[in-house]
Amino acid sequence: AGGGGKKKELKKETGLGLSYKKDDNFGEWYSEVVVNGEMIEYYDISGCYIMRPWAISIWETMQKFFDAEIKKMKIQNCYFPLFVSPTVLQKEKDHIEGFAPEVAWVTKSGESDLEVPIAIRPTSETVMYPYFSKWIRGHRDLPLKLNQWCNVVRWEFSNPTPFIRSREFLWQEGHTAFATKSEADDEVLQILELYRRIYEEFLAVPVIKGKKSELEKFAGGLYTTTVEAFIPNTGRGIQGATSHCLGQNFSKMFEIIFENEKGEKAMAWQNSWAYTTRTIGVMVMVHGDDKGLMLPPKVASVQVIVIPVPYKDADTQGIFDACTATVEKLCEAGIRANSDFRDNYSPGWKYSHWEMKGVPLRIEIGPKDLANDQVRAVRRDNGAKIDLPRGSLVERVKELLEEVQESLFVAAKQRRDACIQIVKTWDEFVEALGQRKMILAPWCDEEEVEKDVKARTKGEMGAAKTLCSPLEQPEVPEGTLCFASGKPAKKWTYWGRSY
Ligand code: AMP
Repeated sequence: AGGGGKKKELKKETGLGLSYKKDDNFGEWYSEVVVNGEMIEYYDISGCYIMRPWAISIWETMQKFFDAEIKKMKIQNCYFPLFVSPTVLQKEKDHIEGFAPEVAWVTKSGESDLEVPIAIRPTSETVMYPYFSKWIRGHRDLPLKLNQWCNVVRWEFSNPTPFIRSREFLWQEGHTAFATKSEADDEVLQILELYRRIYEEFLAVPVIKGKKSELEKFAGGLYTTTVEAFIPNTGRGIQGATSHCLGQNFSKMFEIIFENEKGEKAMAWQNSWAYTTRTIGVMVMVHGDDKGLMLPPKVASVQVIVIPVPYKDADTQGIFDACTATVEKLCEAGIRANSDFRDNYSPGWKYSHWEMKGVPLRIEIGPKDLANDQVRAVRRDNGAKIDLPRGSLVERVKELLEEVQESLFVAAKQRRDACIQIVKTWDEFVEALGQRKMILAPWCDEEEVEKDVKARTKGEMGAAKTLCSPLEQPEVPEGTLCFASGKPAKKWTYWGRSY
């Protein structure tokens, strides 16, 4: 209680700090941390948020990585319009059934009603594929591999949450067409691996690669693969990014037909895949603490913040010069460093401010550091204070940033793994669900059984559903029964509540 009081005092004194604790009120904590960390500003249309430079710089870092990787795979960027006509939108029946409730429509221009309302893309399968049909004629036109970086609109009704579930969001959407299923299958997994790397290598968030159930797969697709993350505080899984094999359903409806090498007509095999600004929200939820955001060094736009700590009689100019020289040296070495010379804030205020924004490493320079030809580094993740000789500054800072990146991932994985519970029976399942676990259970893989589990677990907190069947499957010994139906189990599947 003493700590809480102190926190409140600090907040009052400095205008900084958070009024909610992550463990006490996660929802309020999250809303506050994305605003006070200067990532998001709330907007006057529900479910829409302003993404400030602190958030967009993270998006750009991931974008740079992913864009370069897909270009290595010979995928090209393009841009298709935001608007869709109702006729093409409704062409693939299962697809539109899945998306219809969330589609936003333009019905007016100025004062007059449009003759035919126009939809805003919730995803671009139906926007693009009429043109795939036009461009793909013979086997030499394949593969066709396109991607676009854009926004989409899904008029979500349940619980809008910044980054995690918004009505407009940024994403990349890849759309590819192949002559054979095996080429499509290969690409699905190559992309999924890139999504794993975004989460694990950049955002330091552990994910599980898996396949979605029939009930949870992409509307109109053949199968969906996912990287699934988990938020220990709420005990909810979250679909991190998805790579779909669409099979030939869309090529049938949109007549994406080509002449194969034998001169026969064949239908293209298609994939689509996407990750969104949700990635940023997952990172905030997993790493943030009661002091604010905690950014993994690889995505932080400021990796090191240098703060002068002048004392009354100290050589203030000398301290400021040392700060400037430190930033220059770090930047020359490719480290993203900046200084905070604002004279209307105390060093203590600045420490709290940059902790709130989640900068991985702070460097303080005071009179003693100047005298000893050193700087003091403070880690955001564990608060460790380390004196660094100026001579080995660059190497040591590089090492420290790598250590922070690594320990964020290790700590997040430990917390996630502690939430995984293996169950074999319905009773164990209900108990684990009550403890907000991510549950791994043997399952018969029947759609009706998943619906039944949903119905039986419906309640205030939301029903349980399948998260994914891990691609790396533990063995299913002969005679293993489904935890829910008692029928022979076909596979291990993760279950839980989800976002
Ligand atoms: P989908 O096209 O439905 O497979 O969606 C692609 C990815 O977008 C999903 O895997 C989610 O991670 C993400 N996503 C879905 N809905 C939203 C939303 N409302 N806000 C942010 N991200 C979303």
